[in-house]
Amino acid sequence: MANLNINAKKKNTFDAIVIGSGISGGWAAKELCENGLKTLVLERGREVKHIEDYPTATKHPWEFEHRGQVPLAVREAYGRSFLREETLHWAIKADEQPFVQEKPFTWTRGYHVGGKSLLWARQTQRWSDFDFEGPARDGYAIDWPIRYADIAPWYSHVEKFAGISGNKDGLPHLPDGEFLPPIELNCVEQHLQGVLAKNYTDRQLIQGRCAHITSPQPIHLQQGRGKCQHRNLCNRGCPFGGYFSANASTLPWAAKTGKMTLRPDSVVHSIIYDEKKGKASGVRIVDAHTKEMIEYYAKVIFVNAGAVNSNMILLNSISERFPTGLGNDNGLLGKYFTCHNYRGKANAQVEGFLDKTTSGKNPSNGYIPRFRNVLKQDTDFLRGYSIGIGAGRGTFTNRDGIGEDLKNQLIHPQLGNWNVSAWMQGECVPIESNHLRLHTELKDKYGIPQLITSVAWTENDDKMVKDFQEQVEEMFSRAGFKNINANDTKSNPGSDIHEMGGVRMGKDPKTSILNKWNQVHACNNVFVSDGACMTSTGTQNPSLTYMAITARAANYAVSEFKKRNL
Ligand SMILES: Cc1cc2nc3c(=O)[nH]c(=O)nc-3n(C[C@H](O)[C@H](O)[C@H](O)COP(=O)(O)OP(=O)(O)OC[C@H]3O[C@@H](n4cnc5c(N)ncnc54)[C@H](O)[C@@H]3O)c2cc1C
Ligand code: SF4
Repeated sequence: MANLNINAKKKNTFDAIVIGSGISGGWAAKELCENGLKTLVLERGREVKHIEDYPTATKHPWEFEHRGQVPLAVREAYGRSFLREETLHWAIKADEQPFVQEKPFTWTRGYHVGGKSLLWARQTQRWSDFDFEGPARDGYAIDWPIRYADIAPWYSHVEKFAGISGNKDGLPHLPDGEFLPPIELNCVEQHLQGVLAKNYTDRQLIQGRCAHITSPQPIHLQQGRGKCQHRNLCNRGCPFGGYFSANASTLPWAAKTGKMTLRPDSVVHSIIYDEKKGKASGVRIVDAHTKEMIEYYAKVIFVNAGAVNSNMILLNSISERFPTGLGNDNGLLGKYFTCHNYRGKANAQVEGFLDKTTSGKNPSNGYIPRFRNVLKQDTDFLRGYSIGIGAGRGTFTNRDGIGEDLKNQLIHPQLGNWNVSAWMQGECVPIESNHLRLHTELKDKYGIPQLITSVAWTENDDKMVKDFQEQVEEMFSRAGFKNINANDTKSNPGSDIHEMGGVRMGKDPKTSILNKWNQVHACNNVFVSDGACMTSTGTQNPSLTYMAITARAANYAVSEFKKRNL
């Protein structure tokens, strides 16, 4: 009997465990496996195999039973009003993980292998030292323990593998990367680009840098990925592997090493702490089908469940040594939780350019990097925002007439006028009262305590939205756009889907949970390298930074593992 138990434990023992198979977990798996570590990837959702599990990827509009709409009866099970038939297979049902909104919070989740890497908009910009030095310079949150030079080689590492297209724009606050050829701005975006260049010295409109393969390199072909076809149906899953997802890229690469075991349908409950060794010894999961609790063991544990879930897992990892959550010696676990401010939105009508249209569909957009408070403090709010810009021509179908004429008109819609829109991505200043915690009584169907979100906008956010509205109105007016409408949507925190913080990095264990290698200060074989580790938010889309930080942390973990330090 004793032997049997030893065998069972051996079967469940790995060198490393990665929790979550999304953008950051995929990178942890790739780096750990490539470096020879036998790695278990635990994923709460179902298996999604690249290409074969994208059921709607090549469907024509008329092949959808409800023409894209989701019937009310089906919608009710998801508890959400906005759902599309094309992407219903990614949606999660309301009973999967209920949570308590102490303050309104919008939480978008992708629970399947690949996580939100199958849902994201693929915008990818590097941080600069204007971001890493921001908290120390402007006196908020705490100083980052790393600088741009620490992470720059890792940005290059992930960009080359993932495939990032863009221009080398030479901007000090938005460093250039290892770019594939850019997707072009269209004529209206180019017009606005010219207007900004003529009228402003502090801002530029550039082509958004994005994770699309515009010219496949050998490393992409080795992954079985090809050139983006500009269909812009990315969120159904891309059969060409044209954009970066964990499913198309990092996970199959890790699997090819023969070192990865992927276990879908495994809801991680908590991390097991060994009081004697003073280290984590493994992870407890609840099997999503049988509800059985199973333990897995490893010397290295990477927590990459997405920022909110990574906070939850640590908070739920209670032991004698850590009665309020793993690594929570200073009581800050779950605090300084933050996101991006997406409240500002604008649109306008464009006159002219009627002799021009676009060929194919642009899966990216234009981008104005942050221009407020970069070199000096020049507004009454801290930090700043970037702006996404997209212009396009609507279509118009003339439904007058009958017979042959009507059919022709329906089949060949006419191109309408151009219009343009702008959306802000503001840096939120993390504050202690914005936090996540676990409910002391309510549990989900897996027996895991429910999450309580307590995150609110600050006065700094309000001022920033107002400034966005004024600045966009001015820029659009100078470009000659008409009927400008710049508003504050008052959307909830979380609507940006860029959740960050709660397990922040720092130099001092008294004010942070993680060190500069993403190790929990008080439990150094646990690494957290998704959005939860972010000390501040910057104004860039964050996932490229999660990927680079994860690759850096994983390579450090490998070297420490090989030195037997973990
Ligand atoms: C519509 C949309 C557009 C976006 N656009 C952009 C963009 O343009 N640029 C950008 O940078 N970012 C964008 N994002 C955000 C981006 O998707 C996330 O930042 C990124 O996916 C985070 O990576 P992650 O590894 O932390 O989490 P995820 O990719 O979400 O992966 C986490 C994984 O962990 C699993 N998991 C969670 N809890 C558990 C548990 N208890 N046990 C086991 N597994 C668990 C989940 O099922 C999931 O598979 C967008 C997101 C959405 C939804
Ligand atoms: S636009 Fe490119 S990446 Fe997106 S689905 Fe089409 S081919 Fe794939």
